[in-house]
Amino acid sequence: AKAIAGGGWKAYDPAAAKRQRHSRELEHAMRGGLQKGEFFLQYQPQVDLRTGKLAGAEALLRWENGKFGLVSPAAFIPVAEANGFICELGRWALTEACHQAADWPDEITVAVNVAPIQLVRGDVVADVKHALALSGLPPKRLHLEITESAFVELSGPVCKALEQLREMGIAIALDDFGTGYSSLSYLAGFPLDKLKIDQSFVRKMSSDPQSLAIVQTVNALAESLQLDVVAEGVETETERQLLTAMGCEIGQGYLFGKPQPSEAIEEWYRTSCRKFAV
Ligand code: C2E
Ligand code: MG
Ligand code: MG
Ligand code: MG
Repeated sequence: AKAIAGGGWKAYDPAAAKRQRHSRELEHAMRGGLQKGEFFLQYQPQVDLRTGKLAGAEALLRWENGKFGLVSPAAFIPVAEANGFICELGRWALTEACHQAADWPDEITVAVNVAPIQLVRGDVVADVKHALALSGLPPKRLHLEITESAFVELSGPVCKALEQLREMGIAIALDDFGTGYSSLSYLAGFPLDKLKIDQSFVRKMSSDPQSLAIVQTVNALAESLQLDVVAEGVETETERQLLTAMGCEIGQGYLFGKPQPSEAIEEWYRTSCRKFAV
């Protein structure tokens, strides 16, 4: 047993100790990996459902390590968030995404994920300005995706940073909408341009009437708040048609394309019109 904060005693938990060892090991490997160029980005198409054309792409971090192999972001992002390394990693992702997207056709936007802690602890505005200046990417081509938990901690300074970014012309999207804690009153006051409906709702939409109702309601809500909607996890033609009929602006999912290297995006742009025209 071990003394814990608060004065209690806790039995030694081998599973927890193992997890802790593993996450320390991952942390060490991540820090080295960023130096060695083990991280890279893949981009997933975001399609304008009204025209079938490629509207943009979301940058998704990938990590290929000698010992751990290709590690899923679901495994390393939470560790990087917990130990604060995400601030450095996120800054790298932002710079790399702007740099690569600067080579794409001018109409195509790039969406970069920003972890809550980057907003609270880091200086995202300075990071963004730096990335835009280095790459020459126009601010209107950059979108930032923020998960709902950030909005729970939306203090004055975070709000101000988001407002500054929007004044620069950068669009802010609320990621995984519906899975977090944000209440409707939060939504109204927040500096926001888009809602991304979480894939769990989209996935169940055609079989579960309640999920369908949620997706419909989010679309109606977004329309009255003058926000665009991005549907995540669109995998079937039925889902695409349902979303289009609801007035959902943008779709993203395996139906349109999996995350792929930057070079594939340009090719995608040229062929998307034919493939998904409505
Ligand atoms: P997210 O931002 O919600 O990204 C969407 C995730 O859903 C991606 O997983 C994507 O590959 C997956 N996905 C997209 N379409 C489909 C589909 O049709 N079916 C299914 N089953 N899955 C689909 P990925 O790449 O594993 O990323 C997981 C999460 O890791 C992201 O969720 C995001 O929260 C986080 N992440 C990735 N890159 C970054 C980053 O640069 N910074 C931060 N802070 N987080 C990141
Ligand atoms: Mg995202
Ligand atoms: Mg999401
Ligand atoms: Mg709409």
